[in-house]
Amino acid sequence: MEQSMGMIKGAERPPLHLGTLVCRHCGEIIDTLPTNGVKLFYGECGSELCRNPKGDKTDDGN
Ligand SMILES: [Zn+2]
Repeated sequence: MEQSMGMIKGAERPPLHLGTLVCRHCGEIIDTLPTNGVKLFYGECGSELCRNPKGDKTDDGN
């Protein structure tokens, strides 16, 4: 008797870049990172507008 259980061969995939690094100010995607699962990271894109937000204070108690 032969068992044909969907032969999954060569399933060695490169790590997917599921982690996304986005700018906390403008939402621009800065970078992607190979993470285990979908994750979202916040950073700063380095844009002048984001480095020097004019009067737009965010209230994150960090
Ligand atoms: Zn930005």
